Amino acid sequence: MARKTKKKTAAKKKPALASAKSAKPARKMKVARARNAGRAAGADPKRVSAILAKLDEAYPEATCELRHENPFQLLVSTILSAQCTDVRVNQVAETLYKKYPDAKAFAYATPSELEMEIRPTGFFRNKTKSVMGASKAILERFGGEVPRTMEEMLTLPGVARKTGNVVLGTAYGITSGIVVDTHVLRLSKRLDLTRNEDPKKVEQNLMEIIPREKWIQFSHQLIWHGRRICHARKPKCVECNLEPICYSKDKTV
Ligand code: SF4
Repeated sequence: MARKTKKKTAAKKKPALASAKSAKPARKMKVARARNAGRAAGADPKRVSAILAKLDEAYPEATCELRHENPFQLLVSTILSAQCTDVRVNQVAETLYKKYPDAKAFAYATPSELEMEIRPTGFFRNKTKSVMGASKAILERFGGEVPRTMEEMLTLPGVARKTGNVVLGTAYGITSGIVVDTHVLRLSKRLDLTRNEDPKKVEQNLMEIIPREKWIQFSHQLIWHGRRICHARKPKCVECNLEPICYSKDKTV
C-alpha cells in the first residue's frame, strides 16, 4: 500500500515540477524585461490619473514661459535656453528679435556680432552656430517656415527631441512627444513614473503611460511644478498638492 501511495505521489508531482521549472525562467525574463524598460511601480494607471488630476488642479494655465511672437522665435529661444534660465533668455530675446527679426537676418548675421548678443545665455559660440545653421536650413529647405514634423525638426542643426517637442507642441499645437528637460527628468523620477536616466528612454516611458492628448500640457505642468515647488534642492513638499501620493526619498516632510 505504502509503495502504491509513493508511486502515485511521484507521478502527480512530475507535471508540477515541470511547470515550476518552465515558470521560473519566464518570470525571471518578465522581471528583467520590466527592469530594462525602466518601468516604475508608480506608473500604475490609477496613480498616473491621480497625478494628472493634481497637476491640472495646481497648474490649469501652465504654458511655455519663453516669450515669442512666432514659431521661429520660439525655436531660437529654445536653442538659447539650453543650460540657461527662461528669464535670462527672455531678457536677451527682447533686443535680439529687434535686430534679427527673421530667419534671413539670423542666417546672414556676422557670427562675432551675434555671439556678443547671445553671450549672456552661455555656450554662445555653439549656440550661434546652431541658430545660424538652423536659420539657413529653414530658408534653404523649408521655404523660411519652421517645419511641422519631428522628423524634419531633427534635421535642423542644434535641434534634438526636446527642442522639437517644445516648438511643435507650443507653437503649432502638434503632439509629437513629451518635453524632457531637467525638471521633467527630475520629477518623473521623484514621482516614480520612470526608473530611467536617459531622456530618450524617459520620454518613451512617459509616452506609454500619459494619454496622448495630455502630452503637451503635462510637459508644461511638470516644468512649472519643478520651477515653483519641486526644486532640485529642498523641494517645498509642505506646499505640494502631490505630497500624499509622492513617496520620493527626496521628500522634505
Ligand atoms: S512631495 Fe516633494 S518631492 Fe514629492 S513631488 Fe511634491 S515637492 Fe516634489
